[in-house]
Amino acid sequence: LERSDKKAYEEAQKRLKMAEEDRKAMVPELRKKSRREYLAKREREKLEDLEAELADEEVLFGDVELSRHERRELKYKRRVRDLAREYRAAGEQEKLEATNRYHMPKETRGQPARTVDVVEEESGAPGEEQRRWEEARLGAASLKFGARDAASQEPKYQLVLEEDETIEFVRAAQLQGDQEPTSAPAPSAQAQQKESIQAVRRSLPVFPFREELLTAIASHQVLIIEGETGSGKTTQIPQYLFEEGYTKKGMKIACTQPRRVAAMSVAARVAREMGVKLGNEVGYSIRFEDCTSERTVLRYMTDGMLLREFLSEPDLASYSVVMVDEAHERTLHTDILFGLIKDVARFRPELKVLVASATLDTARFSTFFDDAPVFRIPGRRFPVDIFYTKAPEADYLEACVVSVLQIHVTQPPGDILVFLTGQEEIEAACEMLQDRCRRLGSKIRELLVLPIYANLPSDMQARIFQPTPPGARKVVVATNIAETSLTIEGIIYVLDPGFCKQKSYNPRTGMESLTVTPCSKASANQRAGRAGRVAAGKCFRLYTAWAYQHELEETTVPEIQRTSLGNVVLLLKSLGIHDLMHFDFLDPPPYETLLLALEQLYALGALNHLGELTTSGRKMAELPVDPMLSKMILASEKYSCSEEILTVAAMLSVNNSIFYRPKDKVVHADNARVNFFLPGGDHLVLLNVYTQWAESGYSSQWCYENFVQFRSMRRARDVREQLEGLLERVEVGLTSCQGDYVRVRKAITSGYFYHTARLTRSGYRTVKQQQTVFIHPNSSLFEQQPRWLLYHELVLTTKEFMRQVLEIESSWLLEVAPHYYKAKE
Ligand code: ADP
Ligand code: MG
Repeated sequence: LERSDKKAYEEAQKRLKMAEEDRKAMVPELRKKSRREYLAKREREKLEDLEAELADEEVLFGDVELSRHERRELKYKRRVRDLAREYRAAGEQEKLEATNRYHMPKETRGQPARTVDVVEEESGAPGEEQRRWEEARLGAASLKFGARDAASQEPKYQLVLEEDETIEFVRAAQLQGDQEPTSAPAPSAQAQQKESIQAVRRSLPVFPFREELLTAIASHQVLIIEGETGSGKTTQIPQYLFEEGYTKKGMKIACTQPRRVAAMSVAARVAREMGVKLGNEVGYSIRFEDCTSERTVLRYMTDGMLLREFLSEPDLASYSVVMVDEAHERTLHTDILFGLIKDVARFRPELKVLVASATLDTARFSTFFDDAPVFRIPGRRFPVDIFYTKAPEADYLEACVVSVLQIHVTQPPGDILVFLTGQEEIEAACEMLQDRCRRLGSKIRELLVLPIYANLPSDMQARIFQPTPPGARKVVVATNIAETSLTIEGIIYVLDPGFCKQKSYNPRTGMESLTVTPCSKASANQRAGRAGRVAAGKCFRLYTAWAYQHELEETTVPEIQRTSLGNVVLLLKSLGIHDLMHFDFLDPPPYETLLLALEQLYALGALNHLGELTTSGRKMAELPVDPMLSKMILASEKYSCSEEILTVAAMLSVNNSIFYRPKDKVVHADNARVNFFLPGGDHLVLLNVYTQWAESGYSSQWCYENFVQFRSMRRARDVREQLEGLLERVEVGLTSCQGDYVRVRKAITSGYFYHTARLTRSGYRTVKQQQTVFIHPNSSLFEQQPRWLLYHELVLTTKEFMRQVLEIESSWLLEVAPHYYKAKE
């Protein structure tokens, strides 16, 4: 063994030990041991793997001179091959399990996505493997992409990117398709024939199974539907049901989506396909936005909205079908819906329940719903070549921009899909791309840069679906939304930095934070799959094959296990479900998290000491916002400042997208922002912005002049109106503080006394948990550092930052939450 390898091995062992200690330290009291054990076991297996691998190599290459670099390459390949085997095995296993149950489309059943090594080895002859490896090394494996595919473009390529700026990728695996790479239909030809929207409908993979599917639905109460993304589950199945008469006698069909954007966009698409106006027969309803009417029989809605439907209609009596879509996403709300719907289905045998999912996890859903049959829609999938970077990239945003240009100048036509983590990142990347394109001018072909994220206004959202003009190339820069919820035609290239934004929750400290974390392998493969929908595609991963193998989790942890549960517990309690410990969860949340949610609701006065809902708790459940926010709204009655508090609540709900800061006017923008500062903190700044905007007559010009985002403000206004409409129901009158901001601050404190921090000699510490935290540099209090403050949320980026902070006095804590805080003697 080479010394370096030994060292690597020792280091791995050390890391493992540290990781285990870390984990031990982090969750000593965590009773949900299963996951920990699972993780520890995986770590152990990883290590065993590594050991075996090193031993192997010693035997095989004992006498062969290999550089360290070559050894590493070999190792990559082996890992990827092993991965392929695992995948294959998993596929076989799944098939086996599947045959035991009722399945339709038997013959052409879709196979789980597979990844295979580029170096396919079939014989175990000695030396064979090495020969193949050498061949591969000489051939495609270490190709610098672009150089081969577009040799003729080389000079142009250099004009666009500096040599040392380009990123080197290695092709290491292939996601296998079930279609010949050559049988690709012309991607946008279909899309361009606008008149034949019905032809497009008929061309979707689900169409040939229409009758079978309807028969299956008719004969089973619960049906799990599995199909590749883009096969037509979301847009077609509700239409089939509509055509089949499931909406007669005023009955409705609900189809849930985990994401707002998906609900809106899909509803718009279906309305167009049916030739009706959005909001008539087809509509959507998402929090703070209801685009439905009496006539709306096909209702696309977020999973959270269907949950709230249970409040007004506990047996969902007006629905004939409930389709829980994108079930594999396992959002908190979807998971809770499962439990509730399973229960309702027992009482309402005529209610049809459909659970639709991408090709993941369907067996789990089936088991949960008492072995409900699985209906597989065979997808169309073309092979996707997967490339990894040779070395880790330090700045993935920059790397993204460079890679997009690299693809643009070296690769044949086809649109690009880039996965980033959120609005800020997406806007930055788009700006950088547009900037570079502008500077390159006519040196490159036209590149259309289109963002898509949750807060994007719908007209902008619609643009991503428009066909790309001939000669140009489209690059869509998206959040996770494009992973499975939206399908964009014409994507041939996927660029995946391998990150996503994830909520995490520490039940020990009760702190929730939003973090950019590596996505899971399942996610990465879904993303790659997006490149193979219309033709053979390529996926460029901005991380190494080693990282894929060793740093990514297999699947994403369900949200229910990494979020606070205050909201959901309040909702379940108001539905009369008291015994939460025995609620029928697909995966139960950690016991501590549940307990903490109960404790927090108790502190907020929503539950009494018997764990029953109080009057105030019932009111809090009426408001479609977090318990702390609703408590703040309720408290505004006591401090006679509901006008102001409504505004603050609305502004907090539109979330960090109030101010904008164009690159060429940074100083102006910052000055404009500082002009809104009021003593007291960020909540009052938000209030100030809104009040001045309202005084301007809600003017867009005013926004433009003050570097404020008009569309965020418009949204805040909508939210505010809706909350105002609910005030009566929770018995809060409309009153104003007349400039007495202490009252506003006290009302806010009544809701957020849980989120307080105190300045100590070593910086800010949260009051209860003694966690070190920092004021976000964007805050108006960043330079003031008051002694006591409360924060709206914690965001973990480089540090644990408090966003939206408000200065408070410690005596207020005793005033608003005497049961929670006690005066020091
Ligand atoms: P699934 O739910 O199985 O992933 P969908 O029903 O969402 O599939 O999509 C089926 C097809 O409908 C997609 O391939 C896409 O071509 C088309 N489609 C969906 N939404 C839109 C939209 N907003 N605009 C244009 N086409 C769309
Ligand atoms: Mg869908």
